Amino acid sequence: MAKEYITFTIGPKKDIALIAHDNEKPKLIAWCREHYAELKHHNLYGTGTTARMITDQTGLTVKGYNSGPLGGDQQIGAKIVEGVIDFVVFFSDPLTAQPHDPDVKALMRIAQVYDIPMAVNKATADFLITSELMNSDYQHDVINFRRQVEERAETL
Ligand code: PGA
Repeated sequence: MAKEYITFTIGPKKDIALIAHDNEKPKLIAWCREHYAELKHHNLYGTGTTARMITDQTGLTVKGYNSGPLGGDQQIGAKIVEGVIDFVVFFSDPLTAQPHDPDVKALMRIAQVYDIPMAVNKATADFLITSELMNSDYQHDVINFRRQVEERAETL
């Protein structure tokens, strides 16, 4: 019988998504400069504008998806589901209403479901990026979706 959880490994080279709402972009760019030496060891991804600004202003290579309001947060969520992205730094704006708020919530939810490290402010991001786990394997248990589908298909 298939297990309820499957153990996945986040390797020493992380696949990190970098996202910031407009008011928070300067803070994220400064954070990327501060942690350049660590970030350059990992694969970096981001929503369109954030990715472009980090690449232009820090020299880090960041693969850009669509802009957040045009579906970029959802693309990053899909990459978490596919196992391509395993780490998120998202400086969201707590003081300004966002048209794509449902997408932001969806990304946070999917990061929880897949037990992905996710920082939504600078202090948490500082703690994560300086963790000894940044450069080692980390094993975590994720819901066994194949088993879930089999059970649901049989019982519903
Ligand atoms: P942006 O999107 O990087 O294209 O600005 C970020 C967001 O608003 O979610």
